[in-house]
Amino acid sequence: MVRVRFAPSPTGYLHVGGARTALFNWLYARKLGGQFLLRIEDTDKARSTDESTRAIYHGLTWLGLTWEEDVVHQGANVARHQRDAHALLESGAAYRCFCTSAELDARRADAESRKESFRYDRRCDLLDAAEVEQRAAAGAPHTIRFRVPDGHTAWTDMVHGEISFPNKDIDDLVILRSDGTPIYNLAVVSDDIDMRITHVLRGEDHISNTPKQILLYRALGAALPVFAHFPNVLGTDGKKLSKRHGATAVGDYEGLGIMPEAMCNFLALLGWSPGGDREVMTQAEMISLFSEEGLLAKASVFDMKKLEWMNAQHLMHMPMEVLTPRVVDAIVATGVATAVELSANEAWVCTLIELLRVRARTIDDLAKQSAPYFGATVTFDADAVAKQWKDASLTRKLLGGARAALEALPTWDAAAMELALRGLAEAEGLGAGKVMQPLRVVLLGVAASPGMFDVLLLLGRDRSLARIDAALTHPHLAA
Ligand code: GLU
Repeated sequence: MVRVRFAPSPTGYLHVGGARTALFNWLYARKLGGQFLLRIEDTDKARSTDESTRAIYHGLTWLGLTWEEDVVHQGANVARHQRDAHALLESGAAYRCFCTSAELDARRADAESRKESFRYDRRCDLLDAAEVEQRAAAGAPHTIRFRVPDGHTAWTDMVHGEISFPNKDIDDLVILRSDGTPIYNLAVVSDDIDMRITHVLRGEDHISNTPKQILLYRALGAALPVFAHFPNVLGTDGKKLSKRHGATAVGDYEGLGIMPEAMCNFLALLGWSPGGDREVMTQAEMISLFSEEGLLAKASVFDMKKLEWMNAQHLMHMPMEVLTPRVVDAIVATGVATAVELSANEAWVCTLIELLRVRARTIDDLAKQSAPYFGATVTFDADAVAKQWKDASLTRKLLGGARAALEALPTWDAAAMELALRGLAEAEGLGAGKVMQPLRVVLLGVAASPGMFDVLLLLGRDRSLARIDAALTHPHLAA
């Protein structure tokens, strides 16, 4: 049974890189019928906050990345981390180190002054066993260090293939500080063993931790998980994504009107390709297409334009029953209509959304575009007026003609409208656009909209005619 985990440190918001890692873990678990667990790595008490933990829960839930079992809080497992450190001490895989941090700092500075890289020289490992016992019993402060064996540490990474580190480059790492608190690498391994994690899938910045962790697994007598390290997410300038690039918190995108379906889809393509040129996918499609082979070893770029495009694609294709309530909320938030008014005109609202969703990039954008369809008066865009009503007397004449033709229609349908308005244009020796463009500004106040007949149908005869009447009193057109 595949068991994976997402293990964020709650020291900030949920970063898009973290969300991508969470998503890949989740997809892997869903694909293989496994379990996706969440562990909050809150051992750094000074930097961990409840607010950040809440932001992580919220972000994951918003993305639809639900986890199995209770959330594990690393900080609650310190006693086990300590037990594991002591077990390593007893088995001889670790030793007590009485060197103080001041002494270590001095030796490090000394090595640096000689342009040598600092390695712990194992002097405490050479101490006489009786002396060690005696100093420890007397309460002399000390850390517990893991003795890195000779040789190489290698693994087959799911993303990068074979990776090998010479152990001589790995310092004997402290696993328990002198105050008894565990060091990160020990806590992670201890928790992953306890949680029966089979696959550790995380960001590339952890590659250098992996050989240390593998050595700890072995020393603790535990089976190794499979490791995968996902490449960094870069900004469009090729540098690692950071606040300099703008919004990097998942929550920021929620605020910008990006939908979770689009965000998930976009994040999935940061380091994975389903093959071919397939890009737009639902979560269910991503699960069915997800495979190890599709994981990419090269860094991917976070491109806001692509995210907006992805959002527009989802907006266009998602089921109306999912989209409508969200748009309704957004329209209500703009203040142009109440929830009660909208629910009383459900079919009309659906038609409006169907028309606008192919032209909008976000839900907020869609809600904004819906404004001219509500309310008694039209707000005119000055540029649209100047451009489309340039010749005031011709515009007046055309609008008057359009009004009469529309009023006379026996039925309020697109075919009849088209015939009437085209006939009017022809009679004036003009192209149809010369009637439609000024009329669009009359009806909606803006120069761009869905097809004219759709707009007329949506507004209905009375409101369409009333809007023409109102436009004829506009200072630009009033004679
Ligand atoms: N807590 C680590 C982080 O936030 C992740 C550790 C892991 O996945 O092993 O980067």
